Amino acid sequence: MTLTDAAADLLAGGPVCDACLGRPFADRSFGLRNDERGRALRTTLALEADEPYEPVDPVECWVCEGYCGTFDALAEAVVETLDGVDFATYQVGTVVPPLVEENDRLLREDAGMEPDAGEPLKREVNREVGRRVGARTGAEVDFDRPDVLCIVDLSAFGPYAILEDGEAVTAHAVDRQINPAFVYGRYRKIERDIPQTEWPCRECGGSGTQLTDDGEEPCDYCGGSGYLYDTSIEETVRPHVVAAMDGREGTFHGAGREDVDARMLGTGRPFVLEVKHPHHRTPDVEALEAEINEAAAGAVEVEGLRLATHDMVERVKEHDASKRYRAAVQFDEPVSATSLDEAFAELEGTTVEQYTPQRVDHRRAELTRERTVYAIDGEPGITETMADSVETELLEPEDVDTTATIEVHGAGGLYIKELISGDDGRTEPSVAGLLDTGAEVAALDVLAVEGEDEPFERADYFKDEAADGGGESGDAEETGDGDESGDDTGDGE
Ligand SMILES: [Zn+2]
Ligand SMILES: [Zn+2]
Repeated sequence: MTLTDAAADLLAGGPVCDACLGRPFADRSFGLRNDERGRALRTTLALEADEPYEPVDPVECWVCEGYCGTFDALAEAVVETLDGVDFATYQVGTVVPPLVEENDRLLREDAGMEPDAGEPLKREVNREVGRRVGARTGAEVDFDRPDVLCIVDLSAFGPYAILEDGEAVTAHAVDRQINPAFVYGRYRKIERDIPQTEWPCRECGGSGTQLTDDGEEPCDYCGGSGYLYDTSIEETVRPHVVAAMDGREGTFHGAGREDVDARMLGTGRPFVLEVKHPHHRTPDVEALEAEINEAAAGAVEVEGLRLATHDMVERVKEHDASKRYRAAVQFDEPVSATSLDEAFAELEGTTVEQYTPQRVDHRRAELTRERTVYAIDGEPGITETMADSVETELLEPEDVDTTATIEVHGAGGLYIKELISGDDGRTEPSVAGLLDTGAEVAALDVLAVEGEDEPFERADYFKDEAADGGGESGDAEETGDGDESGDDTGDGE
């Protein structure tokens, strides 16, 4: 059967528009639209038969019932829906009424063709409307993860009103989805006792209320706020980013987390702020960084903010990372510098076994982990940088014999407090065990969170050039962490 025979058969059942006539042959040739295919076939048939050429307007077409004539109007409705929304990539999807889909199938069957010959109407509408949206907005189509996705529902309007009466496609026909946008950065926590994310009160479960004999009253434990702390890293960062992107809400994703009472210093900890429903996707990150830092007034600092792709979320959560710590340690008995050095020599490069610490959430599986101590060093006494920030009854900084400042570089997941204390024998070997005296971390600083094999910052996970600063290529070598099981857990336990 020749192509023109097939086309004649397709036309035998009633008037068919160019696009519907060409669509069963969508897989033939390249660089042609379906209506061009259809028009060529109709022209050829007229020439072969030497009969007058009679075009069929979509409004007369029994297959698409006019929808193939509404691509321009649909594109206009889509563009209108996206008015005021900032996007660089988009995708158009279509819901075709079942009866029209059935027509498309009947057209082929009646002509003796495969029911799915060529392509379905849905794909044609997606492409034709999408092409027009791209031409009008300058945005690029992205089938994987577009900034915006518009689904047009053909059943929400009648093509005749568009084609005959010149009406516009109703906005109800377009369902707009704005996908999240992401800002990557690193934070430093200069002050202690700030949780990474909001921490609901454990007594009232975050409700801020408690039941008494007199009825509901503000929770005694949290004072009625529902939260254990006034602020958090998330609270410090999120509102600014959400506002800058004119979004609806934001989610903070950190590369692990330090204990609430630990500071996060040095190159900071990677994070991603995910903004839902953003109307702006390209805020000035340097201005944003300055704004956050000014509002945080020195308690928290962010740096290296960059526009990132969604991949960065998984990156900060899953990327293997090592960490560097500085701990102010209190011993039960005097410890000599020599025995300290001997303990460090013993521990450096050693793989320690750590049974799930007593302080860790009991919902966590109890098991023995093996973690490597890459490097450990220290000196008797508490260095000024730690003593200044330590307010704990545990520590007597003036007592050089019974205190030490210890720096550790460990694999992700190493429980640093237990490496020092031994955790009643659950961690082996340990500083306390080797020194044969009680040892406890009185204050802890995290100095770096660095990717084990490569930096957190991967060029293809960013959407722009680096902002000023940031630890992305780093003074310290990069390592990082996704494993929160280290001393990163047990916040407030
Ligand atoms: Zn048609
Ligand atoms: Zn409470």
